[in-house]
Amino acid sequence: MVTKYKCSECHTEFTDHEAYCENWREPDKKFGCPGCKTMFRKKDFPLSYKWASTIYLFGVVSPSVSLGPDIAGESSLTTLVLLGMQILSSTAIFALYSKAVLSKYSPIERVSS
Ligand SMILES: [Zn+2]
Repeated sequence: MVTKYKCSECHTEFTDHEAYCENWREPDKKFGCPGCKTMFRKKDFPLSYKWASTIYLFGVVSPSVSLGPDIAGESSLTTLVLLGMQILSSTAIFALYSKAVLSKYSPIERVSS
């Protein structure tokens, strides 16, 4: 998937490939809007989102791994149902959460000069 950025100044949409570069050696001058030449800096994902993904991975992956051998063996139907519900609910909550966070999130911020 190609990430599209939107310039906050002139609303031009551009990709990494189309971005305007003034000087690739300088972090603040190598990623700009091709329309109005405003320079941007790429941002990392919000910290809360990273935490949520970590918690999600542990909540889903660790029970699946620990129960893995049981599933092949003689685990009860209840365990399987509970595990399934846990995976489904975690996935649903995480999907909703990412949607909420990422819809408000802009991957670039304007470089103040
Ligand atoms: Zn622009």
